Amino acid sequence: MLVSDDIHALSRAVSGPVVLPDSPAFAEETFAFNLATVHRPDVVLGAADAQDVAAAVKWAAEHRLPVSVQSTGHGADSAIDGGLLINTRRLQDLKIDPVERTARVGAGVKWRTVLEASVPHGLVGLHGSSTDVGVVGYTVGGGLPVLGRAHGFAADHVRSMDIVTADGALRRIDAHDEAELFSLMRGGKGNFGIVTALEFSLFPVGEFYGGGIIYPGADAAPILAAFRQWLPTLPDDASPSISLLRLPDMDFVPEPLRNQFVVHLRFAFLGNREDGDGLLAPMRAVSTPLMDTAGPMDYLDVDQIHMDPTDPLPFTEGGALLKDFGDETVADLLELAGDGSGCPLLLAEIRPLGGALSRAAVLPDALPDAVSGRDAAFLLFLVGFKMPPIAEAVAASIREILAAMAPHSTGYTLVNFHGEPGDEADRARAWTPAVYERMRSAKSTYDPGNLLRFGHAITGAPAAG
Ligand SMILES: Cc1cc2nc3c(=O)[nH]c(=O)nc-3n(C[C@H](O)[C@H](O)[C@H](O)COP(=O)(O)OP(=O)(O)OC[C@H]3O[C@@H](n4cnc5c(N)ncnc54)[C@H](O)[C@@H]3O)c2cc1C
Repeated sequence: MLVSDDIHALSRAVSGPVVLPDSPAFAEETFAFNLATVHRPDVVLGAADAQDVAAAVKWAAEHRLPVSVQSTGHGADSAIDGGLLINTRRLQDLKIDPVERTARVGAGVKWRTVLEASVPHGLVGLHGSSTDVGVVGYTVGGGLPVLGRAHGFAADHVRSMDIVTADGALRRIDAHDEAELFSLMRGGKGNFGIVTALEFSLFPVGEFYGGGIIYPGADAAPILAAFRQWLPTLPDDASPSISLLRLPDMDFVPEPLRNQFVVHLRFAFLGNREDGDGLLAPMRAVSTPLMDTAGPMDYLDVDQIHMDPTDPLPFTEGGALLKDFGDETVADLLELAGDGSGCPLLLAEIRPLGGALSRAAVLPDALPDAVSGRDAAFLLFLVGFKMPPIAEAVAASIREILAAMAPHSTGYTLVNFHGEPGDEADRARAWTPAVYERMRSAKSTYDPGNLLRFGHAITGAPAAG
């Protein structure tokens, strides 16, 4: 049990605020974007810099306290109970190098901040569907970008990381220094330490075409059939996705679409209007859209492609990597999540993978990263509200759809889309068996006391002999 002398020792060792559960600041420091998750650590440090993170981890190790980390709470799939929570949102350093085409960010920086600084140089980072998400949490989870088929996973393009391991040491790791740790931190989630800064590649973007088409849900079957036939005609510079949406009566939903079941096609393309319109033509012909926003787009409007919620909500998720999206897969999905199915989910989404997403490791000299899914063709992702009175029905629906999709699945998940972590066997599904075994070995080396044990954490391999 912590006594006040312990807390004073932590306060003396750091410059950021040390916050206890009885403080008025506790709710703000533990707040998660996912409102279904309420964290209850014993103490929170609002880290002011990397030295704060190192000192706090050392302090926690001395007191055998588990350590967790949060920046935005977008990935708060499960609650943190006890221990020390390090809140990184104050780590806002940002440096764009337009010549080297790199960005270096502190652990609290969100994607929107990166884009606002990089787009004026004609450069973008490999962010996902919402730029409100934190760069570091997203990237250590692999990071499946909007432009994924063109450039691959965000983790494929990390140049270096500053990381505090469970012994409290602050290390800079890259392809040459601590190559194995660097490999596994790119996709292995926060299993081996707390990242304080990240350096990654930026990519040129010239003309950009993007947006969404929303169709009546009653046409879901012909739209999904057309989607499947359309995909092989697309170049890797085009990244589409499609979802079955039950739109709630909420502010982030355009008024005429509230309370409707619709199909939402999303489209991001590195090209001009003529080529974008040409590529989209078959999907524009398949049904009369309720809304069509696709066209030349200012890159800073990129969030309009997926139209993810911007205000915190209580939600739960589930995901699976699929081998195919053939007739049977589509029929099974429509039966459980289509029109008239009574499905309570907000979203059942299919993201085609392939292109650069299927190519492992692009960094010269670096070991391949830990991202799974290179051999998968599609990601299935399910989201629903986690609140009364539908929380139970939502959880049951996610289980039912994942079970029905199991024959079409590779058996693996992407950790950023895994949903609530279950037992060890369930958590292991976010990596290939070979990567998972390397992770268990690295866990024994870098976190032998299992300090980092919350969320999607794994346990170390038993010592040899
Ligand atoms: C609206 C929305 C859209 C999304 N779109 C995409 C998408 O298109 N592609 C995609 O890949 N993912 C997507 N995600 C998932 C998202 O990438 C993960 O939830 C990610 O974990 C969020 O990171 P965060 O730092 O914002 O969240 P947090 O909840 O603050 O952190 C989540 C986890 O990330 C790890 N982490 C965070 N900071 C650190 C650190 N400093 N050091 C080590 N580990 C750390 C920890 O395990 C932590 O528990 C989306 C999520 C939401 C809610």
